[in-house]
Parts: sequence; structure tokens; C-alpha cells
Amino acid sequence: MKKIIIARPQGFCAGVVRAIKIVELALQKFPGKKIFVNHQIVHNEFVVENLEKRGVIFNDDLSKVPDKSIYIFSAHGVSPIFRAKVETRDLIIIDATCPLVESVHTLAKKALNNGEKVIYLGQKNHQEFKGIKDNGDFILVENLAQAEQILEHSELKKLIENLDTETGQEKFSREKFTCLSQTTLSKNETKKIIETLQGKIPQLKVVNNICYATTNRQNAVQELTKKCSLILVIGSVNSSNSNKLVQVAKQQGISAYLIDDEQDISSEMLANHDCIGISSGASVPDELLQGVINFLREKNPAIETEEIIVANEGVTFALPLILQ
Ligand code: SF4
Repeated sequence: MKKIIIARPQGFCAGVVRAIKIVELALQKFPGKKIFVNHQIVHNEFVVENLEKRGVIFNDDLSKVPDKSIYIFSAHGVSPIFRAKVETRDLIIIDATCPLVESVHTLAKKALNNGEKVIYLGQKNHQEFKGIKDNGDFILVENLAQAEQILEHSELKKLIENLDTETGQEKFSREKFTCLSQTTLSKNETKKIIETLQGKIPQLKVVNNICYATTNRQNAVQELTKKCSLILVIGSVNSSNSNKLVQVAKQQGISAYLIDDEQDISSEMLANHDCIGISSGASVPDELLQGVINFLREKNPAIETEEIIVANEGVTFALPLILQ
């Protein structure tokens, strides 16, 4: 182990900075009030545990939230049905949904209201899809195999069968289709899925919603793979964008591991690797990165440190009015 290369950008994105700031400001502005956050504010155990220590309660069961409490929606967004349910309660609601996630909801509602079939690229169990799916009927595509079979999807089969058999193909080509995506998908895999879908549905309108932060972090890891034989990605196991960083590295044939922090690094992991790349997901605080760097420096005090910078972000999002 002779060198570490730190990918930039990595760690907190603007949506995560805003969401955590919202919880911190709520703690300051409403002392003595119970503060609940739907689900996890962001998908990182360290962040969640730190806020729990300060009294924040992460909640998946609205019936356990007493009236007059503060209720914060997480960065991943909530479904319109859940939002309406919360709004019937006597709670102070603060919305920490990332504006980029919110914009996918807006696009979905617009397309559905316009009578379009919406194909959503994402993961069934991810919080972002759970948030968007109640807006209407979506055709969910989770992987390339499903994209290849898209015309066999029950929704589309039903649609094709209901069209006049003689002119069915012609009518099908006049149907409107919009493709939207989760913000944290793999850029390369999504490109292949979109190309496959366009091959099957030529009139498909595509809006790629993979956000700037996901894209930049994946590009930075891609650069690391040109120089390093091992990449350590800091992030929690339920963090979609962190998992995708590991995937990007592995697709290039590079060894890669998802670690919560330096305690997950074993000697076996490091064996036979001269150059180690380090990245972290969009919900990972800098102190976890620093912990990993310090750990590797303790192992080899003469280790060289370099950075690869693929983008300078400088993105910020406004806070909700109630906290300004
Ligand atoms: Fe928003 Fe992208 Fe960050 Fe998700 S990863 S919170 S969409 S900026």
C-alpha cells in the first residue's frame, strides 16, 4: 500500500446538506418540542445515530406521533397519500424532500395528467419509488432484463390487446410514453436500459433524472478505476448511490467494497494493492472519509495522498420558509 487517491466530488450533496440543516434548525427553533422524521432523514447510519442522540425520533408509524409535534419529511420524499394523511394531523410539517426528487414527482404528475404511460426506472423498495408510486400507475423497470421484456409487461400487453388488431401497431405508436428515473441510479446501466426501451417503444420521451451529485460521484470513481486496483466506498448498505459507486468500480474489473467506516477495513482487503481509491456516497459526512484516511496513514505513515477532481459542484438549495 503506497498511495491513496481521493475522489472528488464525494460525500454530502446539496440535497443532503439541506435535509440535515433542516433537522438541525428545527432543533434550534423548536426547543422542547418532539421532532419526528419520516423514515431516515438520509440513508446514513452515522448521521441518523447522531441526530437520535440529540433527541430526533425517526419514525415509520404515524400513529405513534403525538399532536403538536414537528414532523419532517426526509430527503427521499413521501407519497401524496402519506402527505395528505400527515396533513390531517395537528402537526408542524417541514418538508426536507430534495428539490431534485420533488421535480421528478412534478414531471410524473404532469405526464400522468396528460394521459401518458409513465415508465419509471428505479428500485421497487427504494424510498424514492415508494414516494412517487401513489401519484398514479407506473410501469416500473428495475433492470435491463425487464427493459428487454417491456412489451410483455402486463400493463402494455393489456394496452396492445385492447387496440384494434389490424391497426394496433399504428395506434400503439401514437400512444404517449414518458420515461423517468430515480435520481441515484447507475449512469451506464441506465443508458443501456433507455436505449433498449427506445428500441421497443420508438416514441418514448426520456427525461433522465439521475442527479448531478450521483453523476459526478460515479464519474470520479470511473477515473479512480484507471489508477487504483482497490476502491473503498464509504456508505451505508441501504444507500442506493453508494452501492452504485461500488458497482461502477466492479464493472471496470476493480476490487471494490462498501464500508460504513474504517472499522470495516480488513488486512485481507488491502493485501497486494499499491494504490487505493476512496470515495463515498452523497449522504456520507467528511469525518467518515477522514477516519478512513487516518486509518490508512497509520498503517503506512509514508503513504502518498493524491486527489482526482472531476467537477466542482457549488450547488445549494433554499431552506423551507418556516426555517428562513
Ligand atoms: Fe438530491 Fe441527488 Fe442528493 Fe438525492 S443524491 S438528495 S437527488 S442531490
